Amino acid sequence: MARVAITGATILDGTGSDPISDQTILWETGVISWIGPDSEAILDKTMIIAADGGTVLPGLIDSHVHISLAPTLTGIYDIEEEPVARTLIRAAHGAGLLLRAGITTARDVGSREGVAIDVAAAQRDGDLAGARILAAGRGLTPPGGHGQAMGVEVRGAEEVAAAVRAEHARGADLIKLFPTGGVLGAGTHGFDVVMTLDEMRAAVETAHELDIHVAAHVHGTEGIEVALDAGIDTIEHGTGATREQSERMVEDGVAMVPTLVPLVALRQRELDLPRDLMKRANEVAAIQSESVATAIEVGVRVLPGTDAGTPFNPPGQLVQEMELLVELGMSNHEVIVAATSAAADTFDWDDVGVLAIGNVADLLLVDDDPLETLGTLSWPASIIQDGVVI
Ligand SMILES: [Zn+2]
Repeated sequence: MARVAITGATILDGTGSDPISDQTILWETGVISWIGPDSEAILDKTMIIAADGGTVLPGLIDSHVHISLAPTLTGIYDIEEEPVARTLIRAAHGAGLLLRAGITTARDVGSREGVAIDVAAAQRDGDLAGARILAAGRGLTPPGGHGQAMGVEVRGAEEVAAAVRAEHARGADLIKLFPTGGVLGAGTHGFDVVMTLDEMRAAVETAHELDIHVAAHVHGTEGIEVALDAGIDTIEHGTGATREQSERMVEDGVAMVPTLVPLVALRQRELDLPRDLMKRANEVAAIQSESVATAIEVGVRVLPGTDAGTPFNPPGQLVQEMELLVELGMSNHEVIVAATSAAADTFDWDDVGVLAIGNVADLLLVDDDPLETLGTLSWPASIIQDGVVI
């Protein structure tokens, strides 16, 4: 593949370093090969994209998606009735939607029959144009628990450990647990803790033996406590986290992926939706705002994830999630770091998320300065993945 360069750019490398203007970034066969001042760039036999003062930053990472889910009010039930091939096609389409929104990498935290694993493989093998996917396969949930449409039911530590091994053997890059109920969906037990500490520990120990991480869907203070006791790697949602729990997350190096977009998407439909559902969504949103603001203040590694696939929340809304995190206390630069290098580091993805020589050429070129106007990330002038202009 030819050499390609973006010239005249401000480079925002994803690490949190200050932006540097008048730079050239060059890549060959999908890998970044040079970054430096325009005046020193050697550009023979190079295809050139002029940035004209625009900013280049790493492709974004959505830390929490469900590409197999249908983003309608009843999608979580409906998909169980459709052929798995239909679900797989939706998931493949979802990976494409993510990429076209500038999200070059995403972590799928639970898919029906584990189809996200197949999408991840197809993308990796070049059979599918879409975001690179880190996939959990099926989430582990107790009988009658939350997340059934994208889960496998387990009870007892032995069954949990066996399910972890089975998902890993199927190709899962991480394990997802549903130890508490959710806001929506079958098996919603509110904030009740429905997995035992032993079960969660069995999941963590087995997954860590297999060198993969464990994400836990947790709402409620009690569930967060059990998840932290079990040694979980990432807390998804984390509604109701206390200040002490946030401090513990910092100490234990546990990241939190709050997913604020789904409740906003629901609340925007207020008039169309059942009253009890809206009441619950409003209550959860209030608790969530407070716990996320505290987590940010205390210094928890908070990562932007959209929960794409939930009602009225199709893949591609990551910038909205980033804007919501800014409202709760992050700076524009902090949330960009969270959606690039911090996410990559948390998921042990060492060649994406940072603009550096030797890393994969996943980049966005945007017209305005995202440190001033975060919304510019919604309309990238160019999206490049694996060195290819999308
Ligand atoms: Zn989710």
